[in-house]
Amino acid sequence: MDLTLTQTENMIIQKNPLATLSVAVADDHLTKTVLPNKMVISNLSVYYNKFRALTDISVNMPANKITAIIGPSGCGKSTLLRSLNRMNDLVPKFHVEGEINLDGENIYAPGVDVVDVRRRVGMVFQRPNPFPMSIFDNVAYGPRLYGIRNQNILSEIVERSLNQAALWEEVKDSLHKSGMAISGGQQQRLCIARALAVEPDVILMDEPASALDPISTLKIEELMQSLKEIITIGIVTHNMQQAARVSDFTAFMMINQERAGTIVEFGPTAQIFINPQNKQTEDYVTGRFG
Ligand code: ADP
Repeated sequence: MDLTLTQTENMIIQKNPLATLSVAVADDHLTKTVLPNKMVISNLSVYYNKFRALTDISVNMPANKITAIIGPSGCGKSTLLRSLNRMNDLVPKFHVEGEINLDGENIYAPGVDVVDVRRRVGMVFQRPNPFPMSIFDNVAYGPRLYGIRNQNILSEIVERSLNQAALWEEVKDSLHKSGMAISGGQQQRLCIARALAVEPDVILMDEPASALDPISTLKIEELMQSLKEIITIGIVTHNMQQAARVSDFTAFMMINQERAGTIVEFGPTAQIFINPQNKQTEDYVTGRFG
């Protein structure tokens, strides 16, 4: 059973982003809910110079959901994630074909403001990377960059963002302490607060917990669940249990014969892990390879 959305469904949703349609799936009594999409990736191919790292990727990120990207090392997960906020623009001779639509607009269209794309689509990396400045200044960094100078407004943004990142209670009395002088798990939540401070629509997380201990990992996973009420999340993870635990949708990627990354299967996470439609997906999620 293919639970991915048809082109017509996507068109309906893109024209009316708030529409939520329920379509009954007759053959197995499941109900497919057609969700509004925050990002729609269509026929995306990505090149590093002449090397085609991704080919013909079509996948959606439903709004206010967590979409996980899984697959063996080197299949292009990070390349795909970094393409979603034009992070790879900084790589020489990088280019894309196809489209990545954010709220119906192609982020690679000529004239698009890349700084605005990166504000709307934030990123959190594998290793926490707080700036060498205070906790307050880390979170206020983005808003200041966008011209906010008023101290009261900055204080409100810092408190709100740290609250959203489930860090406020732990640091509210030490906002002027260095962002690098707190635990690794707290540093990662600080980086999430820093991303949230500019009110993004989407946050992309590239293995956000792989450098953390199990308790800090759990906190990040719980945080993701609360954050999806306000944003859409994309996560790359090597940890299949994590993908199964936290995500609503999963894209499974592999390389093809030309070594270009492709989507093997995309669908609700329960389908990918319990009832995969593709033999390669089944082999991967049951640990037969990878
Ligand atoms: P994954 O995240 O699944 O491990 P990557 O996206 O890092 O995969 O890499 C996909 C492919 O793209 C690999 O063959 C990798 O060597 C290549 N690649 C990644 N980044 C670059 C780069 N900056 N320049 C050239 N090739 C790259």
